Amino acid sequence: MKKLSIAMLSMVLAGSMLLTGCGGGNTEQTTTDEGTDSATTETAGTEGGVLRMGTNATFPPYEYVDENNEVAGIDADIAAAIADKLGMELEITDMAFDSLIPALQSDTIDIVLAGMTVDPERAEQVNFTDSYATGVQVIIVPEDSDIASPDDLEGKNIGVQTGTTGDLQCTDAYGQEFVKQFDNGPLAVAALLNGQIDCVVIDNEPAKNYVAANEGLKILDTAYADEDYAAAIAKEDTELFEQVNTAIQELKEDGTIASIIEKYIPSDGGSEDTAA
Ligand code: GLN
Repeated sequence: MKKLSIAMLSMVLAGSMLLTGCGGGNTEQTTTDEGTDSATTETAGTEGGVLRMGTNATFPPYEYVDENNEVAGIDADIAAAIADKLGMELEITDMAFDSLIPALQSDTIDIVLAGMTVDPERAEQVNFTDSYATGVQVIIVPEDSDIASPDDLEGKNIGVQTGTTGDLQCTDAYGQEFVKQFDNGPLAVAALLNGQIDCVVIDNEPAKNYVAANEGLKILDTAYADEDYAAAIAKEDTELFEQVNTAIQELKEDGTIASIIEKYIPSDGGSEDTAA
């Protein structure tokens, strides 16, 4: 069954990322258009140009490095559909999650698609398009953990991915000294498996992938509210913003985004994520 095999593939990939530790950190990797020197790429925003997307490809099934060493997943497919509508060529750069907004501001990239949650502080720095999906923060714990709900997190060592909403919410709620930051989700999960931390707070879909790829872990729901994922674009890049936002609206209306999400998160697989 095709859907199942894709879901299984993303789990296997999550597992291989855990084993190899690849796809994270600060390594920049251009996964398309190998012949292009991205340093000489003109600023995009018009037909025939290059749409330079930034992401952090340790966040399956939204983004991960596939067997061809290319960034794949929901966000890559949505970005390809947007680029297609705009008559642009898509170029994807993999970088640390907390480098994405600075990369937009320094015009190193044109757009972020990274399962990025719309957040008021971020919205002061970048423009968010209409939301295209939702997520929720969950807690990953060892199966025999004494943590049963967010109420039990007080005084525990909590692993997060640096700069994510999980990081910001846990730092606010439990204090910085209890929050251990990692470059990506797989590194946080590896620290959990080694007993260096007591839990990992991270978005639900990557959490499912990490737990499926590792023995002895389970997921608890948190009381945190649903989050909206959207594309982010630099404040001054208003022309591109209007074009991308219109493209996202059209791709939502014609069912393209729903079918991309369904391809990676089959609804018969019990997912809570939906097209926004
Ligand atoms: N949704 C979370 C955030 O925006 C995590 C995103 C990610 O790690 N790619 O902070």
